[in-house]
Amino acid sequence: MKIISDPFMLKEHLKKSNKSIGFVPTMGALHEGHISLIKKARQENEIVVVSIFVNPTQFLAGEDLERYPKKDDADKKICELAGVDILFFPSIENIYTKDEAKVCAPNLRGYVLEGASRPGHFSGVLTVVMKLLHIVSPARAYFGKKDAQQLNLISLMVKQFFMDVQIVPVDIVRDSDGLALSSRNVYLSKTQRAEALKIPKSLYAASKLISKNIFDAQKIKEEICSILDPLEIEYVEVLSRDFTAIEKVEIGNTIILVEVLVGKTRLLDNIWL
Ligand code: AMP
Repeated sequence: MKIISDPFMLKEHLKKSNKSIGFVPTMGALHEGHISLIKKARQENEIVVVSIFVNPTQFLAGEDLERYPKKDDADKKICELAGVDILFFPSIENIYTKDEAKVCAPNLRGYVLEGASRPGHFSGVLTVVMKLLHIVSPARAYFGKKDAQQLNLISLMVKQFFMDVQIVPVDIVRDSDGLALSSRNVYLSKTQRAEALKIPKSLYAASKLISKNIFDAQKIKEEICSILDPLEIEYVEVLSRDFTAIEKVEIGNTIILVEVLVGKTRLLDNIWL
């Protein structure tokens, strides 16, 4: 595995190879969720590039940028074992200069749900993803369904900017107790982790209702909220897969999304129906 931090060197290196590239952007502290993206990229491409970059522009003032978990050595090992060809490991200066052009998240879709609790977050995400896609020029880029709104906005961006890359969604990987894996789960104390299990439980209860032919979005939201209680709920939404509100679940075209604060830790989860 080659480790490259200079974007221009990486571009040069990839240009010479003339092979299909699968790209997995991450912020490091890698877990099985990231590994499933890498495995899918490995299956579908000749070259796999993973980036590890904790992108400062997607963190709001007062968020966890400074304490975001860092596991550089373990991450390098994980990438090597997962069959990654190139690890792109840039510094902030490799990616950003001063007074730059940036991508603005759409005014509506970028400022609801997580975008409402973190205004400006998705502009930072889209800007760095745009930069990374231009550096790597992959045939396919892999994103987790866990960050469903991010996946939706990135898919929109590549379409709206006529970019030549296929965005590949990858299923959520969960711990054995049902909690969706996240680099931020390390922030949770034992008690908080136990409380956080209400999140997958609530989504499971929602899918049970649906299996009993209860499709009413309001009823489903109420069931989820009652199970999450007394956690601090940021939102519970039943949306179509293009992120518009719906009154009834349509199987094959629905996402149920939950964002909850457990202590100061923001946890996202969702199910696709
Ligand atoms: P992050 O390092 O948190 O920015 O995540 C990098 C990529 O991994 C994103 O596309 C995430 O959606 C994806 N990801 C994170 N957690 C999971 C998970 N539990 N299952 C599947 N994909 C995930």
